[in-house]
Amino acid sequence: MDISIESLPKIIRDGIREKGIVSFTPPQIEALRSGVLDDISVIVSAPTASGKTLIGELALINAVLRGKKGIYTSPLKALVYEKYQEFRFWEKYGFRIGISMGDYEVTEEELKRLENYDIIVTTYERLDSIMRRRPLWMNNVGTIVIDELHMLGDRSRGHIVEMIAIRAKLMGIQIVGLSATIGNAEEIARWLNAKLVKSDWRPVKLYEVIAYYSGRSEDRQWYMYLPKEIFNDQSPIVVDDITKYWILRAVKEGFNVLEFRYSRKAVEELASIYSIVLCANLDHKDRAFLDKLAEELEEYVPDFEYEKLAPLIRCGASYHHAGLTPEARRFIENAFRERFIRYLAATPTLAMGVNLPARVVIINTKYFNGRSLEKISVLEYKQLSGRAGRPQYDPYGIVVVAKDSRSMNESLSYIMGVPEPITSTLLSDEALRKHVLAVIVSGEVNTFDKLITFFSNSFGASRLSGDVLRYKLSSAVELLEELSMIRSRETDTKTLLTPTKLGITTSWLYIDPLTSFIVIEGLRDRTNVSDLYYLTLIGMTPDFSDISLPKGLYEWFSDLAEEYEIMGEIPPERIEHSFRDPGINWMRGFIIGLILRDWIEEVPERNIIEKYGIEAGDLRVIRENGEWLAYAASAICRVLNMDNHANRLSVIVERIKHGVKEDAIPLARLRYIGRVRARLLLNNNIKSVEDILRYREKIIRILGESWGSKIILEAERFVEQKQ
Ligand code: ADP
Repeated sequence: MDISIESLPKIIRDGIREKGIVSFTPPQIEALRSGVLDDISVIVSAPTASGKTLIGELALINAVLRGKKGIYTSPLKALVYEKYQEFRFWEKYGFRIGISMGDYEVTEEELKRLENYDIIVTTYERLDSIMRRRPLWMNNVGTIVIDELHMLGDRSRGHIVEMIAIRAKLMGIQIVGLSATIGNAEEIARWLNAKLVKSDWRPVKLYEVIAYYSGRSEDRQWYMYLPKEIFNDQSPIVVDDITKYWILRAVKEGFNVLEFRYSRKAVEELASIYSIVLCANLDHKDRAFLDKLAEELEEYVPDFEYEKLAPLIRCGASYHHAGLTPEARRFIENAFRERFIRYLAATPTLAMGVNLPARVVIINTKYFNGRSLEKISVLEYKQLSGRAGRPQYDPYGIVVVAKDSRSMNESLSYIMGVPEPITSTLLSDEALRKHVLAVIVSGEVNTFDKLITFFSNSFGASRLSGDVLRYKLSSAVELLEELSMIRSRETDTKTLLTPTKLGITTSWLYIDPLTSFIVIEGLRDRTNVSDLYYLTLIGMTPDFSDISLPKGLYEWFSDLAEEYEIMGEIPPERIEHSFRDPGINWMRGFIIGLILRDWIEEVPERNIIEKYGIEAGDLRVIRENGEWLAYAASAICRVLNMDNHANRLSVIVERIKHGVKEDAIPLARLRYIGRVRARLLLNNNIKSVEDILRYREKIIRILGESWGSKIILEAERFVEQKQ
């Protein structure tokens, strides 16, 4: 089939031309040949920056031209937002583009709002939530684009991708899966009845540089085989520090270097060491510019984060890991993209999604798993190396492979290696109980036989015998019955499955059924419990199990936990043992409870962080999760007529949201009033929005002209809106 821009529908042709695209990349041509614009499902497995997004984008537009809706889904909020902005390009051609994000459950109004759009951009979790609600307009969805489809194998979120794909498949919706290079793409394509487009094409040539060291640490030397085409150095070259070698080149030739390691401490150390190298080699002009850049950072991030990052940024170096606040991460990403930051040491969180290429990527391959040294997978290596070489800016990309290895074999095992196959995570106990409940609540399934049919369509089922699948599903059904989430009733011919009100609420709230159970178990038959009790209870639920806390805290606080338990200040430890599930953890609950209680008692952020040895980004995640789960717990209590607890929890939700005591909530709801300003106003006897409007001069006196008048304006708007 001839594939040229001319052969496409006119609107697409015009759009593409306006985007300045004159020809398609090889994976794009292949995808078009495979029939991606003829309603055929396609999986594209190709390197980063090979133009996969455009394939998805065209499939979505084409769905709308066929009178259908299109959905694009990806793993990160930041990515969803980025794609939403990108796709809004098509609004001038009359397409209605919408985004769905949000912290709590999907509401009726939200479902109605979404009906108005042709193309909806959203995260995996949100799409799964929407699909659970089965809005009527879902029947009119023609195409779902699943970005980063290799996430299917992700331990904590793969099952969500799998559920989206199963539903799309069963509803006859075209699936366009965009994936990094994976080992078993054929198998995944077969599962989805999709055509496979597999390509190694990259817009920028990639050189993989073999590296290894020999000698003891004092007299260690590194060997590197540089590509002859671009460097005249004789091969191999011997250096005493690989990273330093590339940083010096980067300063001279004006490019940037990205190094991956796998612990927060390790990347912070790297950034600190090489900031010294950089500072010694930058000229005055660069230094002056970087000083200004560091000053700018102060506006965006908490002061204690600024204090750590500023000295590095002044030298053009930084680290990047999940302990940073999102604001700090965005700032660093931008500065690196602009090449103000020359050297970035990062954990692999950065490799997922965010578009952040570097001319040179240095990859360490070993990490400590708590007990022993492990090696990263070939799949991971391919994803990290995909960051090397920025289209339009770099003539080529360089990956230094396995800097931390003792022989060239290790580099070779990655360079020649085939990415490991992706496996399903849907049939684990934890994932299964959530999704079995979801399909019973949604009405997608109402008998046990239909449950089996549904999950026979999963990717995981293809590797299981029918008996094992049946056994797993009946265990999940039994558990859900025991938790009063569903009822099952035998008739002559079938087993009928119906959800209870509690089950429906749990599924719509998007929480683990065991989370509901723990909330109920901890609060039933209790009347007056402390804030810490509530906070510990939500902290011990499986929906908090992804949070990692410093190991030492568990020991440090264990005596205190026992004391508090005896006093009835926190839930009894036995709740942890009422179900054998690794996600439930009483001690973790207590620590999270303490952190959140400090937060809502207005303890300064810096003190919390120092006291518990966590970082600003961790506190942010704990706050967000805590707010969501307090909200969910409140909704669960409401369903079970435990109104007293529901009301108390609603107050806690707002307190977590703003980080304040109860008396400050009315003030903290206003824009520009954070926890510090709210307390300042309260100390001056300003207690409400009405007070702000009543004592305007006083407000100006307390907060100064600029902030004072801004806040008064907000108060006016607030009152207006309320009326
Ligand atoms: P991927 O999704 O595969 O990682 P992207 O879709 O982000 O890659 O594409 C990388 C860059 O290439 C983007 O800036 C995109 O606009 C550009 N691009 C995509 N297709 C083409 C094309 N056919 N011609 C020129 N540039 C393209």
